[in-house]
Amino acid sequence: MKYVVANWKMNLSVRESIALVRSILRSVQGRKHFPGIVICPSATALAEAHKLVTRTHLALGAQNAGPDRAGAFTGEIGIAQLEDLGCQYAILGHSERRLKFGEDDAVVHDRLTAVLASNLTPILCVGEPMEVRQAEQAEEYVLRQLKQAFANQKLPRGKSFMVAYEPVWAIGSGQPASPEQIVAMHKLIREYLLHELKLPTDHCFVLYGGSVAAKNAYQFLREPEIDGLLVGGASIKANEFAQIIGAACDVIEAQASV
Ligand code: PEP
Repeated sequence: MKYVVANWKMNLSVRESIALVRSILRSVQGRKHFPGIVICPSATALAEAHKLVTRTHLALGAQNAGPDRAGAFTGEIGIAQLEDLGCQYAILGHSERRLKFGEDDAVVHDRLTAVLASNLTPILCVGEPMEVRQAEQAEEYVLRQLKQAFANQKLPRGKSFMVAYEPVWAIGSGQPASPEQIVAMHKLIREYLLHELKLPTDHCFVLYGGSVAAKNAYQFLREPEIDGLLVGGASIKANEFAQIIGAACDVIEAQASV
């Protein structure tokens, strides 16, 4: 299974969001094989997007999830509210949340706790800054993020877990990591999920994010270690995103034919 997750960030009006959902739906029409497609619009568009994706191949995700189901957390969106809006996924620990809003490992841990206790599938983002990679400490850094997020968590059976490896230096920079760098990190992440946390293989998905575009999506998706892509900037351009989905369909079709 391959996944394509769209992170629209703080972009698009409700009307523009509706148009983009419709265009994504059109882009998979007539395809026999397609990836799991998860769209994560701004919270303002979740309700309208939910109406459009119901009974389609698209799933809905939130860009963050409150640290509890409900309660005194001004400005946050509670897990129960996200479920009410039809969300099935929640991005957690995105580097923009970590760097611009001071969400440290403890905050990410608490959000993950709340998501694990819900019906939502977490998409936990991890990734190192450039200076850490240059110091050849990327693996330790990512492993530490994973350990902090998963420390003492109850891991419900039957739940899916997604981890998105998103090197900070690759996000929005036009400079994606190389397939070799990604595969090496994905192996480490998967090893942690399967062997440290003892999660079942078929419930763990390791995605890559960072300057994914139409021109590079296929080379990432064809790697067996890369279960999917988390796409930011390119996911709000209808044509470009349709091509990324097309690349995922091509990879899945090629795999189905062998
Ligand atoms: C992201 O924000 O998760 C992301 C991967 O952004 P971009 O694709 O624009 O690099």
